[in-house]
Amino acid sequence: MRKCYPGGKRKAFNITYDDGVEQDIRFVELLNRYGLKGTFNLNSQLMLQEFAWTHPNGMEVRRLSVDAVRHLYDGHEVASHTLTHPYMSELPEWEIMRQMGKDRRNLEAIFGREVKGFAVPFSYYSDTIAQCAQNSGFEYARMSEFSGRYAPCRDWYFWKTGVYHIEENLTDFVAGFLNTEEELAVCQIVGHSYDLDAEHLWGTMELICAAVSGQEDVWSCTNLELVRYLKAMEQFDGTNHSDQTLWFEFGGRIRTLHPGERADFPV
Ligand SMILES: [Zn+2]
Repeated sequence: MRKCYPGGKRKAFNITYDDGVEQDIRFVELLNRYGLKGTFNLNSQLMLQEFAWTHPNGMEVRRLSVDAVRHLYDGHEVASHTLTHPYMSELPEWEIMRQMGKDRRNLEAIFGREVKGFAVPFSYYSDTIAQCAQNSGFEYARMSEFSGRYAPCRDWYFWKTGVYHIEENLTDFVAGFLNTEEELAVCQIVGHSYDLDAEHLWGTMELICAAVSGQEDVWSCTNLELVRYLKAMEQFDGTNHSDQTLWFEFGGRIRTLHPGERADFPV
């Protein structure tokens, strides 16, 4: 018996980009062209005002406005990245809660859909941040640390992704993912679309998108879809205790278990 992802697929793929910058327009178009899904972590207050900063290479990085993003992320996940992208190490707990809760409510109002994911700005992370994310109603909280592995993270509020996209080993990491036989393997890439300009990575990302979208055994998903499916699978003990269909491979066949159903194959 082998645990699979929805559709009986053996692997999952997700790209998560932060900050909601102008290059997201071109990047979403790239994902859409290859039928891939992304997760976009946004700072709602910075979308309500004009905000730009200068990259070390001299390039001006500009945030997208609310009007520009209203339909940009259709078909993708919108997740919280705090209201104003602060260094969280310097914040009292009440301000962390406000940065999370108000951002979530703003994003839900702007996009008219639920926002259940969170990613921390910058690299500082703590037990308090994790607890606040849970108390704010997020289903997962992403750290700025990377596992370098294909095994999915199981720590919903200390979520580590696989690889940061400007790492030199990016294409090797993706190639290894396409070849791995690991159960429930996932390739999760994190970054910012402005890096694609700054680091001249558009060609590399397009090759990756093309390679992944051509794979029949890869499930393209948002981070939230991945977390929800893994949580559902985690409860599986021969019976599907979750509210979603679980997928398996047994005896060379794809098997599904609907909510409440018990497996008729050995687990
Ligand atoms: Zn950020």
